[in-house]
Amino acid sequence: MTPPAESGGDALWADGWYRFARRLDSPNFGPRPAGALVDLIVVHSISLPPGVYGGDEVQRLFTNTLDWEAHPYFKSIEGMQVSAHFYIRRDGALWQFVSCDDRAWHAGPSSYRGRSNCNDDSVGIELEGLEGETFEAAQYEALAVLSSAIAQHYPVVHVAGHEHIAPGRKGDPGSGFEWAELQRSLGWADERFAFLRS
Ligand SMILES: [Zn+2]
Repeated sequence: MTPPAESGGDALWADGWYRFARRLDSPNFGPRPAGALVDLIVVHSISLPPGVYGGDEVQRLFTNTLDWEAHPYFKSIEGMQVSAHFYIRRDGALWQFVSCDDRAWHAGPSSYRGRSNCNDDSVGIELEGLEGETFEAAQYEALAVLSSAIAQHYPVVHVAGHEHIAPGRKGDPGSGFEWAELQRSLGWADERFAFLRS
C-alpha cells in the first residue's frame, strides 16, 4: 500500500523547508493560491554574470542585495525581484530561498500541462550554469535526490525546463542539460517528462 503523498518524507521537511538545504530567506515570494496542486518541478539555469561560477551573486539577486553597479550585465537586470525555491551550485551544494509551501518567482509568464502561471503550483530549481553549456555530475546527483524528496512530500507528476513552460521567451536550462540522465537517476516514467515526446 502506498501512503498518501502528504504523509511521506515528513522527516525531510519542515513547513516547506528541506532539511538538507542551506537556508537563505528571500523576500521575493507570496502565498500559493488556495488549493494549489503542486505537481510540477521546473528546472532552470542561472549564473551571474552569465558563465561566471562560484560567487555569491545569485544568492544576492534572490535576496535583493545584488550591487547593480558591480558588473555591466547587472545593469540589464537592475531592480529585478526574483527567486527560486532551490539553487544547486556546480559542486552540488544546495540552497533554499523560499518555502515550497509558498510561491516563488522563477517562472514568469508560463504555461504547462494545460495550466498557466506556473509559479502558482510548481517548485523552481536553479542550477548554477549557462544555457547551452553542460552541467556537473554533482548537480545531477543533487537534483535527483532533491526531486525525489520533493515528490515524497508534494504530488509531483511533471518535470520540465523553463524553456518548456515559456517557449520562445526562455531557453534554460538549454541543450547542455541531459534530461535522460535525470530521468534515469530518478527512475520516473516517461509521462513525467511529457515535453520529451511532444
Ligand atoms: Zn529560468
